[in-house]
Amino acid sequence: MPELPEVETFKRYLDSTSLHQRITGVEVHDAYVLQGVSAGELARRLKGQRFENSHRHGKHLFVRADDELWLRLHFGMTGSLQHFKRDEEAPAHARVVFAFPNNSRLAFEDQRKFGEVGLLRDVDEFLRKRGIGPDALDINVLQFKTIFRTHRGAVKAILFNQQLIAGIGNLYADEILFRARMHPGTEAARLRDNDLTRLFRATRYVLEKAIALKTDFDRLPKSWLLLHRGKRGRCPRCGRALKSATIGGRTSWFCAHCQKRI
Ligand SMILES: [Zn+2]
Repeated sequence: MPELPEVETFKRYLDSTSLHQRITGVEVHDAYVLQGVSAGELARRLKGQRFENSHRHGKHLFVRADDELWLRLHFGMTGSLQHFKRDEEAPAHARVVFAFPNNSRLAFEDQRKFGEVGLLRDVDEFLRKRGIGPDALDINVLQFKTIFRTHRGAVKAILFNQQLIAGIGNLYADEILFRARMHPGTEAARLRDNDLTRLFRATRYVLEKAIALKTDFDRLPKSWLLLHRGKRGRCPRCGRALKSATIGGRTSWFCAHCQKRI
């Protein structure tokens, strides 16, 4: 599932391929992903506009088409972007395709169709209405600590609660906790100041490193949990078998030896 690092990678990809060109056509191959807009309206409002810039917040990507029109993309479970030439075949799971005059096109593809494509006028208003918290890379250490000091529950459940901190999902939450050597089920109330500092640093490190490597799993450090999580997975640090538990409704993978409950 695309999390903050993947969506940031999509943003950079879109910025480098699809800005400042007139949109000559919008093809909707599958209207299932459209949210609050029909295929006809999407095409009518975007045709003739240009994507001018983009803004990522948490797992959402907003692309500005003019002063009062933003395209909203959410990548669900399997969404991604693919830029391709007109004479190339559209990706198999392309749901919406934007065409540009230089014979190139941009596809929003999404095999499992949990993604969302919509239009909106005001990004801040949208985030407020949805109750989406501050972006994980926008908050400083003090704001981060305050979130954990004012909410109860397992540290992992807070880390990936989009209403509190936007952008971190199940996979990167496990990675951050592994790096911070913290058991995912640790009660937030038990974390001391230096634990929270450690957790903040691990959060920044993991997200920034994943972005720098364009979330290419083949290039991620072998010392990361991501590459080992799952049945028969072993801790890349101590070699012991990894354990799993359901925390905050999702399956967590962790090393019970390296990640102690505080
Ligand atoms: Zn271990």
